[in-house]
Amino acid sequence: MSLPLFLIGARGCGKTTVGESLAQALGYAFCDTDHYLQHSTGKTVAEIVAAEGWEGFRQRETEALIAVTAPETIIATGGGMVLAETNRRFMQERGQVIWLQASATVLAARLAEYPQTSQRPTLTGRSITEEMAEVLDERASLYQQTAHHVIDAMQPPEQVVMQILNALSLANA
Ligand code: ADP
Ligand code: MG
Repeated sequence: MSLPLFLIGARGCGKTTVGESLAQALGYAFCDTDHYLQHSTGKTVAEIVAAEGWEGFRQRETEALIAVTAPETIIATGGGMVLAETNRRFMQERGQVIWLQASATVLAARLAEYPQTSQRPTLTGRSITEEMAEVLDERASLYQQTAHHVIDAMQPPEQVVMQILNALSLANA
């Protein structure tokens, strides 16, 4: 199996953490669309949004997704990657899509513990738990419909990696 693997899910679900270990386990490359954008533009996500609005950011995000997609690569995507149908279809057709599913409470606890406020402007200006619940409400069905595999991401990272490896080997059996 050498198709790209796309990790989708809300901010804090573990796409970067789990993606890096999974890449190591499989001997794959690891790419993060947000990091790619940061390097290719020389701006943070917040700076891109401030300069070009969310619409401009979403356009660049689609370009980043296409640019980083390659065989034997784990691609950690931005939390909003699934919002555009073109991105959803691209990921589904080009590789295996894995949703790292976690509750709003767990996501909020992780983000509160390691605040990376410069990474993203808050979407609503409300508390982080309320915001995560609202974002999940809006996006859960998109994550669900895009994913080939849904993984419980509320366990320790090593177990999340094991679950993904199991799901992939069952899919290829
Ligand atoms: P994402 O890339 O999806 O935004 P990260 O991988 O950056 O998420 O993880 C966000 C935070 O949550 C980090 O501090 C990370 O250490 C922690 N984390 C990620 N996955 C897990 C996990 N399965 N269990 C506990 N903490 C986790
Ligand atoms: Mg990340």
